[in-house]
Amino acid sequence: MATTIFTKIIAGEIPCFRVYEDDKVLAFLDISPLSRGHTLVIPKEPAETLDQLSEESAAALGRVLPRLGRAILRATGATAFNILQNNGAIAHQVVMHVHFHVIPKYADGAGLGLQWPARSLGADEGKALAIAIVGQIG
Ligand code: AMP
Repeated sequence: MATTIFTKIIAGEIPCFRVYEDDKVLAFLDISPLSRGHTLVIPKEPAETLDQLSEESAAALGRVLPRLGRAILRATGATAFNILQNNGAIAHQVVMHVHFHVIPKYADGAGLGLQWPARSLGADEGKALAIAIVGQIG
């Protein structure tokens, strides 16, 4: 995996506003926040996208996300938040190191804006897709 700005933050070569660290995870404030308290939670393991991450690092991220969510809500006074996790450039990933965005949502609308172009899932399509995905789970 190529070096990214997050690799340098993990190594301490670039400063960040750190809010949490353990042996597998680092969390720090996003430098261009969508809302007050917007935080990034990253594995120390170098992996570009979530599907390439080890189960150990994924578990460490999953373990700490609720705690960080609670802390961010308490610290900001927000009562809602979104978790955003982009994988791949066409899915809006800019920094190619796995990261979870924790983005407080405020009553005035500040936070993550969403477009959700939902369609309906047909029965045949649903059955075939579920079978295909089940067959690919290792
Ligand atoms: P993504 O589009 O999911 O790859 O988001 C990358 C995020 O990293 C953006 O929200 C950026 O504002 C954030 N970011 C980039 N460089 C830094 C940095 N040096 N410190 C904190 N956040 C950063």
